[in-house]
Amino acid sequence: MRKFYNSRTVLYSYTFQLNSIVVLIQFKYIKNITLRVKSDGSVVVSAPAYTSSKYVESYIQSKHTWIMAKRNAMLAKTGMYPITNQQVYLWGEKHSTKLHKQELESLYKQQLLTALPKVITTTQDICQVQAKEWRVRNMSSRWGSCIPNKKRIWLSTHLAAYPPECLTYVAIHELCHLYEANHSAQFYALLDRFYPDWKRCKQLLKQPLYPTF
Ligand SMILES: [Zn+2]
Repeated sequence: MRKFYNSRTVLYSYTFQLNSIVVLIQFKYIKNITLRVKSDGSVVVSAPAYTSSKYVESYIQSKHTWIMAKRNAMLAKTGMYPITNQQVYLWGEKHSTKLHKQELESLYKQQLLTALPKVITTTQDICQVQAKEWRVRNMSSRWGSCIPNKKRIWLSTHLAAYPPECLTYVAIHELCHLYEANHSAQFYALLDRFYPDWKRCKQLLKQPLYPTF
């Protein structure tokens, strides 16, 4: 072993996809492969330096059943139970799937980020105004928010559970705040002009489509 390294030094690492699970593979100056399932459900494999990736990956695959069982047990312990028999909605459509809270949150975030560029172009075109920054985050208390002086718009990742027009509506609502900071009569006049269908979308957003845990 070289002088400046110890067994905790990560020489290099990469991620490996085991079905829906992302496994972090780290190479270190250690003697044996170790596999850890952490309390948040993440999986980390440490392998001796210069072991081939192919070998490590087949080792992970051979432990698939064990990893799944261990992971479910870990997540159950920390309260992140699988959403069994609960319908998951994506863009307003029902899917029957079993996802953990974290997996669902990252799925919605990724979905929203994928849809966003087109929505930004369309809605900024309609409103003839541009935000400087569009950001997304997991917000359960609101669909979006706007900081007019910074021209920054936040959107909730929960919008990915609803029909796509709801995202358009919320984006337009927030863009209208760049003209009118408050929910004044002028604000609603703008909303009526830019997105006449907004009331129907507002109703759609009242459905409890985002799963509760
Ligand atoms: Zn508003």
